[in-house]
Amino acid sequence: MAIFECEVCNEDYSNLDESRAPRVLKCGHSICQNCAVKLISNSVILCPKKCSETTEVQNGNVESLQKNFGLMQAMEMMEASSSNSPPKCKEHRYNIAEFLCSEHDCPSIDKLMCRTCEEFGVHTGHTKVLMSVEAGKIRDVLECRLKQMKLNAESFTVQLEEFREAMSNRQLFIEKLSEIKYHFSRIRQLVDEREKRITDKLTFNTTEIYKCNKETESNMKRLQDCLLEKIEQTTKFSKISDYQLLQADIDLGGLTWYHSPITQKFSPADTKTMDVKLPAFKFVVKKQQKFE
Ligand SMILES: [Zn+2]
Ligand SMILES: [Zn+2]
Ligand SMILES: [Zn+2]
Ligand SMILES: [Zn+2]
Repeated sequence: MAIFECEVCNEDYSNLDESRAPRVLKCGHSICQNCAVKLISNSVILCPKKCSETTEVQNGNVESLQKNFGLMQAMEMMEASSSNSPPKCKEHRYNIAEFLCSEHDCPSIDKLMCRTCEEFGVHTGHTKVLMSVEAGKIRDVLECRLKQMKLNAESFTVQLEEFREAMSNRQLFIEKLSEIKYHFSRIRQLVDEREKRITDKLTFNTTEIYKCNKETESNMKRLQDCLLEKIEQTTKFSKISDYQLLQADIDLGGLTWYHSPITQKFSPADTKTMDVKLPAFKFVVKKQQKFE
């Protein structure tokens, strides 16, 4: 492969090993990176070919020299085509090795066989298999596996999509949250209503009791005033002379309420209606249409 080797060191160029990458000089000739490093002097390379042109190397760094990409591509293509062509028999160089030795205790490391190998060489009399048949079997298995793996990957894609959806979907959370909020706001509303009903009733009853007591009290006051007036009057009579008393013409007839025992007893209104019965903590929240 003389076209793919460095003409200075005679080593093959390489696409993989950077130190053996072909670097282009100003004159257009290529040398491998290793040789470029060896030939550089004061940041200048003198072409080893007949042209003897000089190439300045930026900062003395050979990696600043352009790679010979055309050559590298040609190497790549050559490698690809040589790996696709059938191998040659190592013992019988002009024959294509289309078989593999399948002899159980074959001493040879190289299992490639050509038709001539059956009769001459290390594989004489050895059983063999056709490589294309063996490769075909492997290809069948690989194809089958590939099919299944693709199906698996598709299924995973679908499942992953479900997960992404499940994780990004906050709708359920939002619905649940508003349901809870609505439920408790209903309870609070019912509690407030209940409290208002009870306090309203207490206020009303208390007012009624007060009004009732006020009325009775003012009646009693009137009677009391009347009674005090009579006491004062009667006290005066007890202090005057007999003659004056007889002259006063006091009515000693029929009984009146203020000088006979009072049978009626006045009592303040009953406070029973102020007894508040507090509800137990049990709320039945009627189901209503869902919160939007
Ligand atoms: Zn070289
Ligand atoms: Zn040159
Ligand atoms: Zn052979
Ligand atoms: Zn063999």
